[in-house]
Amino acid sequence: MKINRNFDNLTESYLFAEVARRTQAYAEAHPDKRIIKMGIGDVTLPLAPVVVEAMKKAADEMANKETFKGYPEYEGYDFLRNAVSGYYASFGVSVDPAEIFVNDGAKSDCGNIGDIFSSDCTVLVTDPVYPVYVDSNIMAGRNIVYAPSDLENGFCAMPDKNVHADVIYLCSPNNPTGAAYTAEQLSEWIAYAIENDAVILYDAAYEAFISDDLPRSIFAVEGARECAIEFCSLSKTAGFTGTRCGYTVIPKELERDGHNISKLWYRRQSSKFNGVSYPVQRAAEAVFSPEGQRQTRANIEYYKRNAAVIADTMEALGISYTGGRNSPYIWITCPNGFSSWEFFDFLLEKANVVATPGEGFGECGKGCMRFTSFADYESTIEAMKRITAALI
Ligand code: PLP
Repeated sequence: MKINRNFDNLTESYLFAEVARRTQAYAEAHPDKRIIKMGIGDVTLPLAPVVVEAMKKAADEMANKETFKGYPEYEGYDFLRNAVSGYYASFGVSVDPAEIFVNDGAKSDCGNIGDIFSSDCTVLVTDPVYPVYVDSNIMAGRNIVYAPSDLENGFCAMPDKNVHADVIYLCSPNNPTGAAYTAEQLSEWIAYAIENDAVILYDAAYEAFISDDLPRSIFAVEGARECAIEFCSLSKTAGFTGTRCGYTVIPKELERDGHNISKLWYRRQSSKFNGVSYPVQRAAEAVFSPEGQRQTRANIEYYKRNAAVIADTMEALGISYTGGRNSPYIWITCPNGFSSWEFFDFLLEKANVVATPGEGFGECGKGCMRFTSFADYESTIEAMKRITAALI
């Protein structure tokens, strides 16, 4: 037999391993120092009480012959699809429940969606990039082109008419840069996608962090229904990283190459996916209840307050950054000409703070650093004080 040799083309992802190695080595050599981790990519606050109650009640139903549930529907229960549709309506976007596919998180679908596209497709990603888009397409043997995000375009990469793409990944608000597209910028991408007969795969995993007047969904922008699929997740919206639930929206009229995309995706899901568990779908439904929204918003506001502390510190230090207002990420250009890894070592040694070197997310991340707002408030304040003291 032969294995899929495309795996040989994956680059070893050493970023987080190297961060952990350097951090541990420093901690062992300096056991008296308290290291503050500002690179955490996972949420830290627990699930909202109303969500936990819904999950417990559903677990009780599973214990009773009359209310027990077996396999769920591949595309999710109607109660959750209706709740998600209502959530979209709350910010003015019309999505029919039948266009919503419930899943076990955005990561799976961002990668799995490739099953319905030919391996000949050219895939465009913005650089720096959430590595899942790149690795899943390398595994499928697809050609990848990169659209640079840099200081010049405010880390919002824009289309180049001279480059052709069939599949376009956009992430807004972006991981790792925290930058978020305006409606006008998304319109340009939509026009480019339609011109290229391409499909935009829009990752809105951080939409709940948007507070400025920016689109929370690509479907808020005209033309998107002709060319886009949207992925969303309760991971960062409601602390579901360990609970696992998200949803993918495919407009029912979206067609390519003589095929209806929604039908293809249903065919793919019904062949390879057996749905999300009933208690988790009930927990997800509770997120969208008025009380669920109130409680989960409080957690988001906690992280956003941390993000504001980090952004304000960078502002005061005269360090150029993106994100922090509409995103849990703050992406900075390293001061004093430091490279990403030089600044990583500087922060670790001089401030005992750990952040994530930007070059781990792509060529355009060189000389940049990602801070996250998932630490606790007191540690965030302390970390910013230490960085300020180290730099001035
Ligand atoms: N998309 C982006 C941009 C992310 O940063 C993440 C998680 O970090 C995901 C998707 C994955 O989310 P999930 O936990 O729903 O799989």
